[in-house]
Amino acid sequence: MSVQTPVELATIPPQIDSVPSTPFDADSFNQAVMSTYSRYPLALERGAGCRVWDTQGREYLDFVAGIATCTLGHAHPAMVEAVTRQIQKLHHVSNLYYIPEQGELAKWLIQHSCGDRAFFCNSGAEANEAAIKLARKYAHTVLEIQHPIILTAHASFHGRTLATVTATAQPKYQKYFDPLVPGFHYINYNDIRAVEAAVSELDEGNYRVAAILIEPLQGEGGVRPGDVAYFQRLREICDETGILLIFDEVQVGMGRSGKLWGYEHLGVEPDIFTSAKGLGGGIPIGAMISKKFCDVFQPGEHASTFGGNPFVCGVALSICQTLEKEHILQNVEARGEQLRQGLNAIALKYPHHIAEVRGWGLINGMELTADTQLTAPEVVKAAIDEGLLLVPAGPKVVRFVPPLIVTEAEVKTALQAVEKALATVTT
Ligand SMILES: *Cc1c(COP(=O)(O)O)cnc(C)c1O
Repeated sequence: MSVQTPVELATIPPQIDSVPSTPFDADSFNQAVMSTYSRYPLALERGAGCRVWDTQGREYLDFVAGIATCTLGHAHPAMVEAVTRQIQKLHHVSNLYYIPEQGELAKWLIQHSCGDRAFFCNSGAEANEAAIKLARKYAHTVLEIQHPIILTAHASFHGRTLATVTATAQPKYQKYFDPLVPGFHYINYNDIRAVEAAVSELDEGNYRVAAILIEPLQGEGGVRPGDVAYFQRLREICDETGILLIFDEVQVGMGRSGKLWGYEHLGVEPDIFTSAKGLGGGIPIGAMISKKFCDVFQPGEHASTFGGNPFVCGVALSICQTLEKEHILQNVEARGEQLRQGLNAIALKYPHHIAEVRGWGLINGMELTADTQLTAPEVVKAAIDEGLLLVPAGPKVVRFVPPLIVTEAEVKTALQAVEKALATVTT
């Protein structure tokens, strides 16, 4: 298939390029910063396109993209232009006033999705939090459920605030943070019987299922695409019962799957969906987009100080327009195909270590077999030594989420690095 010429790599401004590498002291960092992350021993200080450089000047191919976030890679001219323009013009005012950039971004999003209206916040967790609040208010005021229950899937990921970590049905993220938020119930992903059972069993007294919050493709849970038949039946169940269907598009949305929204792969539309990661290309922004039920929230019922400010919305709008103008979704499909083909070829050489390669567009996972002792973090470490940044999605899945502007040559280089990394860790 013919593809629009890949986006030109951003040129590095010379003044940045010539800054001497600052020696980095991890010990002093760790004494000042809370230890909420286990970090790889490298400090990144600049980037251009799909490449980043550490403080020692070493170059890496970035197939993490801030975890599926840097849509246009690093220092993309369109983003540099938008950031510069917006900071010079107006960067923050309160939602007490109309913010034109917010309106323009909302218009773009509803014109390019099934949604009718948007609410803006600053992260994926907050977008999901907004959706949970909207669903609860809808349940109380329209469905007349006193104790609404929200179904979420095992191995899901919805964020780290108390409500969203409760929605995230993974014990490792919840341990020590109880009491969790009431009103959630977990079901198996891609298992329609589990949904049917939960909907009928959880209908007692004042308790009833009000919403289902689910990812079209589970990202953190191991890059597991949703099953078409499952999602279509899910839609039917929601239509029959009035249950709200909420899609968490935080990781898979904004073009990463090769389509603008993950739900387009499933042939169903949600009632509400959330976006964040790729939406701002690395600028913190989240959005909840609602199809119908747009007037559930009344003035004063939900808010965010930073949400939808001129800066983030101006930049996010430039990301959206660049996706369109530069035909980036075509690149996502072609590069995703190339990546999966290459990974499958590598998998054939390592049948004892690699179980499966799967994904959509440029969100892909390589699952290691249950038989091997090898773990995803070990593969990731070996890849870093080969100059390739990757990220695990759980203990056994290596995730590939490069910027959406990745070139054919870069995918080829990445595949060579994966092959070398595997050779190292399997001997
Ligand atoms: C990353 C992620 C979130 C949380 O987003 P934050 O911006 O970290 O709060 C929620 N849902 C999904 C599917 C994600 O991948």
